[in-house]
Amino acid sequence: MTTTDQPVPVPVRADRAAGVVLASACGDALGAGYEFGPPLGADTPVLMKGGGSFGWKPGEWTDDTQMALAILTPLAEGGPRLESIEAGFRAWYASDPADVGNQTRAVLGQSGPLAEVAAAHLTSKPGSAGNGSLMRTGPVALAHPGDPEAIAELARAISALTHPGDDCEDACVLWSVAIDHTIHHAPDSRHHWDWADAVRAGLVHLPDDRRSRWEALIDEAATAEPVDFHRNNGWVVNAFQAALAAACATPVPHGDRPGDHLRLALERAVRGGSDTDTVAAIAGALLGARWGATAVPFSWRRLLRGHRVYGEPTLDAADLERMARRAFNGGRPGAQDWPGVAKLVDYYQTHFADRPRRTTIGGVDFGNVHALAEAFDDGVDTVISLCRMGTDDVPTGVEHHVIGLLDTTEAENPNLVLLLAEVVDGIAALKAEGRHVFVHCVQAQNRTPTVAAAWLVHEGATPDDAVSEAARLLNRPKPFLISAVHKSVSG
Ligand SMILES: [Mg+2]
Repeated sequence: MTTTDQPVPVPVRADRAAGVVLASACGDALGAGYEFGPPLGADTPVLMKGGGSFGWKPGEWTDDTQMALAILTPLAEGGPRLESIEAGFRAWYASDPADVGNQTRAVLGQSGPLAEVAAAHLTSKPGSAGNGSLMRTGPVALAHPGDPEAIAELARAISALTHPGDDCEDACVLWSVAIDHTIHHAPDSRHHWDWADAVRAGLVHLPDDRRSRWEALIDEAATAEPVDFHRNNGWVVNAFQAALAAACATPVPHGDRPGDHLRLALERAVRGGSDTDTVAAIAGALLGARWGATAVPFSWRRLLRGHRVYGEPTLDAADLERMARRAFNGGRPGAQDWPGVAKLVDYYQTHFADRPRRTTIGGVDFGNVHALAEAFDDGVDTVISLCRMGTDDVPTGVEHHVIGLLDTTEAENPNLVLLLAEVVDGIAALKAEGRHVFVHCVQAQNRTPTVAAAWLVHEGATPDDAVSEAARLLNRPKPFLISAVHKSVSG
């Protein structure tokens, strides 16, 4: 097993927990437009285009994430679990969702305690082993960080609410434990991580007599391609194998952007064909545990949205990230009641008092958090925050993205170069749409001048000139951030 002796930094673990939910939802939304389609060639672009059999909007997640949200919601609120999850499944089904899996419909379509209804259904149809519980199991791993025994027990119980039976329950146990194991033990992004070994970590939580079969299934997937399982990837075992194959078969990019493996592996999962959204949703939960929310492409994050229960307001990437972080923290927010607090700007004004600072660099506004109000007065319609923000700090109607760039250390920024490239490409796309963009952090001392310099490099400046200009107008960032600006040129 490739693990590190160094404990994973706390902010990286939290980013990974958020990545579990966010990357799974992205895989779901990416695959939605290709569901039931044939395998695609390696060079075929895979786009978050929506459509498909159910007419999804571009970036809209499907039943996989909708059901995962029934699990995530009570975990994020720290409330009681199994009963709330059962109630969440019921409320979702009652809201007349666009797509419901066959086995899920057979169970949720009847009244009575779900586990009992599901067990009776299994008795009447002993072969049933759909992928409908594995597709939503990601959040289960966030319920008991670092406690695989408890995760395994919960994964089995939640699967049994709709998908009882050895194969479905075992797959959920293995995948959920693998996610937790990856969050806590995967080394920093420069080092190798063995995906199949991560999944093997859960074998001890299966009954003795079922381990060798799963070991063989894992071995088979570790050297296969997702497409090898496409004929029957609605079956939980083949969906599990296809998802693992997507992670294993996709080479990790050389250079400074290894986290781009997350995107590449999800595209590969979708190219496998058939139940594309579900295979990619399953793969995304594990990929996100390794690479984190900061490896999710900006363009995907921007498009991503969907339902929890139909009729309620739709949720977006920021909602998923907030809920995942709280679930991973026992249902509680952290310091300053973030994430979830309505206003953080007041806190910044008290603890980091400064005058509003804002300057235009390459046609984009950069500055500190104190300049937000005047930016809105000047017609800024898009805000990219490089610091924690409250849910109500930016008015409704202004497009808002919070990017997890930290000004602390390189070790706490596992996707630094990738993230800079993604933000800069995002700014370019926003500008091309005619949007008035304001990029800020708290004090504009490190994060904001770093993005400003990367933006200037994107616009044609040399890294040295770009850093000098950002330093002149704002502040000279820490050396590890300057180094990232230089690296953002290549690749
Ligand atoms: Mg689906």
